[in-house]
Amino acid sequence: MEYILRRKIVEIGKKLYEKGLVVATDGNVSARLPDGNILITPSGVSKGEMRVEEIVKISPEGEVIGRGKPSSEYRLHLEVYRLRKDIHAVVHTHSPYATAFAVTHIPLEPLVAEAVLTNGKVPVSPYATPSTPELSKSISDLILNHNSILLANHGVLAAGKDLDEAYFRAERIEYLAKVVFLSRLLGTPKPLPEGEIERLLENWGLK
Ligand SMILES: [Zn+2]
Repeated sequence: MEYILRRKIVEIGKKLYEKGLVVATDGNVSARLPDGNILITPSGVSKGEMRVEEIVKISPEGEVIGRGKPSSEYRLHLEVYRLRKDIHAVVHTHSPYATAFAVTHIPLEPLVAEAVLTNGKVPVSPYATPSTPELSKSISDLILNHNSILLANHGVLAAGKDLDEAYFRAERIEYLAKVVFLSRLLGTPKPLPEGEIERLLENWGLK
């Protein structure tokens, strides 16, 4: 299990880097192991060039188990796992369109069907300095009712029941941010028709 998750984290890191959802050594990915410990990407390494053995294991309290230096944002991940027992993976990106919304403090409304079904509304958390305990506290309230959050003037936090779900949420947020951005250039984005969000959720058995 641990080896499979390590490989999956490396694979997702490559996708994040190749698709431009992170640049340089930015971004981080983690997954919760069945024993409660957490695997997380290492500090200062490009997500496009990670090796399986570089993934760091930490306890739910943030102590390193074995070797390596975890991502400086590890506290943010630990806070999600502490508050959401249904979440087993977290992806954090600085993808450009979504980060533009985070910088302008504009939440992402679910304006297309897939957004309703995967992320719902993506709110903006209050600003906090990256890599500090304050950043992890800045999401505590929102993560209780949202799987994805825009971190003010920073980037995207996407959580899921597994690594694929967290990754796809991060990817879809960037796509939606791009669509909303382009829609704003063309005119005024229109909300989905009244009652449509409820209907979509019912059709998909999510309500
Ligand atoms: Zn960051």
